[in-house]
Amino acid sequence: MKFKYDEFKIIEESLDIENLRLSESIMSIGNEYMGMRGNFEEKYSGDSHRGTYIGGVWFPDKTRVGWWKNGYPEYFGKMINSPNFIGINVKINGKDLDLHEESIESFYRELDMKKGVLVRSFVINREGNRLQIDVKRFVSIETKEVCAIKYDIKSLNGDVTVEFEPYIDADVYNEDSNYDEKFWNVIDRNVDDNQGYVISKTAENDFKVDRFTVCNYMTVNTSFEKSSESKDDFRIGIKYSGHLKEGSSVSLEKIVSVTTSRDYEECDLVENAKKISVESAQKGFDNLLENNAKKWEERWNMSDVVIKNNTKLQQGIRYNIFQLFSTYYGKDFRLNVGPKGFTGEKYGGATYWDTEAYIVPMYLSIAPQEVTKNLLIYRYNQLNQAYHNARQQGLDGALYPMVTFTGVECHNEWEITFEEIHRNGAIAYAIYNYVNYTGDYSYIDEYGIDVLVGISRFWADRVHYNKRKDLYMMHGVTGPNEYENNINNNWYTNTIAKWTLEYTISMMKKISSHQMAEKLEKLKVTLDEVNRWQDIIDKMYLPYDEELDVFVQHDTFLDKDLKRVEDLDPSNLPLNQNWSWDKILRSCFIKQADVLQGIYLFNDRYTIEQKKKNYEFYEPMTVHESSLSACIHSILACEIGLVDKAVGMYERTSRLDLDNYNNDTEDGLHITSMSGSWLSIVQGFAGMRIYDEELSFNPLVPKDWDGYSFNINYRGRLINLETTKNEIILRLKSGDPITIKVYGEAHDLKEAISINLK
Ligand code: BGC
Repeated sequence: MKFKYDEFKIIEESLDIENLRLSESIMSIGNEYMGMRGNFEEKYSGDSHRGTYIGGVWFPDKTRVGWWKNGYPEYFGKMINSPNFIGINVKINGKDLDLHEESIESFYRELDMKKGVLVRSFVINREGNRLQIDVKRFVSIETKEVCAIKYDIKSLNGDVTVEFEPYIDADVYNEDSNYDEKFWNVIDRNVDDNQGYVISKTAENDFKVDRFTVCNYMTVNTSFEKSSESKDDFRIGIKYSGHLKEGSSVSLEKIVSVTTSRDYEECDLVENAKKISVESAQKGFDNLLENNAKKWEERWNMSDVVIKNNTKLQQGIRYNIFQLFSTYYGKDFRLNVGPKGFTGEKYGGATYWDTEAYIVPMYLSIAPQEVTKNLLIYRYNQLNQAYHNARQQGLDGALYPMVTFTGVECHNEWEITFEEIHRNGAIAYAIYNYVNYTGDYSYIDEYGIDVLVGISRFWADRVHYNKRKDLYMMHGVTGPNEYENNINNNWYTNTIAKWTLEYTISMMKKISSHQMAEKLEKLKVTLDEVNRWQDIIDKMYLPYDEELDVFVQHDTFLDKDLKRVEDLDPSNLPLNQNWSWDKILRSCFIKQADVLQGIYLFNDRYTIEQKKKNYEFYEPMTVHESSLSACIHSILACEIGLVDKAVGMYERTSRLDLDNYNNDTEDGLHITSMSGSWLSIVQGFAGMRIYDEELSFNPLVPKDWDGYSFNINYRGRLINLETTKNEIILRLKSGDPITIKVYGEAHDLKEAISINLK
């Protein structure tokens, strides 16, 4: 166990230089506006991945592929490593403090999730001089532009000289840059008294993508005297030095503000950054931290999930909620939820189908309705680009991208860009999910129908009619299981395509207002077009095997050598790090929920028996090598009564990064799958469903658990559900009374009710 179990903290009690990148990912902090890996402020000469990122600040890196294919996007959008503004070089007796080289007596690091602060405390021994060093850092959720650092050094014995050099450095690079290019130019920099700034601008690009200008401004507070300043092409620094007598200490506060051209005119960047940095520095680190902790407390009051008397599982879900909120809290509707958030570079882009499939259902319950609505409007605003993406493939309609910043597809592997088109269905599904949850049908006529029509048109063109069988089919796709490409008739893709067409038609019928008629005219939807959609719905081919009584993942899946994961020698796992791609593609092993993803989404359409059969057939072949897999399996396992399996999958989803299940957390956290633990508790163990305007629960408590509790926002109400070992308590914390079904029976909830647990 690398990180100690604790209910609200992530704790490391020694410095593990072999796995520093992993700790750097885990100790990441963010405030939706910006964030960074858990890097040290001071110099570190060992292996490390320095990464600081600013939401919405990205660069179109030229695509790099072996064989260019028509339809490929020209660039791969990357969230770029921002100028390093956390840096503070420290010299003790004239020699750099560098934890890779020091003799370390003790090392402690904690991420305090209650207060949103990263704390480090260590003792080094410099040739007999022992020094105690305490560092704290947080990014503010009160003032989004602020990152505050406090660096304290105490001499435990002997006298030493200490020099600090807080600096800002724009000479940074992205580890995953395609052509080893640097993405920043410095356009101005200055030092004045105890303040300094660097203004940097993203490099020119050939793709007409907006450039971004960023000002990093620091204000320094310390009792040490300023000794000199430094300024070079990319960097500014201010040096402070002094003596520390045995038993005495020194403190330095570096208060940075980061302003960008996303919010300000370029000419106003410095002035605003200065104002914010200076005002915050006047308040002082401790006050800033206290205010920040209050903001986190408000967030926890609304969204905390309690897993009773189980520190390990409690820590897992709180960690996920913490990191998710650090990535996105719905304050800036131009942003979305990137799969690595502010914790790494792998994956590029900022928006995947993950948002609609995994994030939306959680945010619907824990954030104000506007937040989810705006996640949907984000896609509505990118509809033209989605039409562009479809045209790139020579197709009608709108194709939402697999990876993007602006709506234009960035992903450049053919099996994803051209084939992993199921992503389009998730965008339509999220509209359904929102409307079903909130009852806000006005969304459909104002925005939703435009998107639904665009996606339906895409499906109608992407299917082909098979005369011989009198069925519509879809060839050459990649399903959610990315361990197979270019397959025909992926059950999930065909199912979600058919469903989109059905939903679009049903919404057109349901909202037949004047406004809708005008909309349809504007969208040029004809009766012929709708008739064709209906024909596709009626004749869509959905592979099914009678003998096994399961939906078939795709046309030739059952011809594979079908084996169970548990029969593989464990040294083969994870497959993606041990097998050739060829071997993976030909195998039966499934990366993540595929048929089961469809059964999860369209849960009310299948019987428990069908769910069981398909689960029992597919799960044993699933390696769960996508972080998105475990939660879907946990939810379905709860439904079909496989409680131990559900618990195992829950553990995996909730501690995926903390326990590094997929052996890749060093690249960054799996942010978009972090909603998985919340979904597993609420939709899995508590069995929350909303169908036909009815909120229902079907709670179960695993035998080793003492219970759990969570809040949901539902149609203007705040509802708390708590379970004990034998009881379910529902509390209406605010809003009007409501009827809720528990185990299929209706209960009126006015204040609180208690029901026996089954
Ligand atoms: C998964 C995709 C997902 C992506 C980003 C991949 O490993 O297979 O479904 O969209 O990661 O999270």
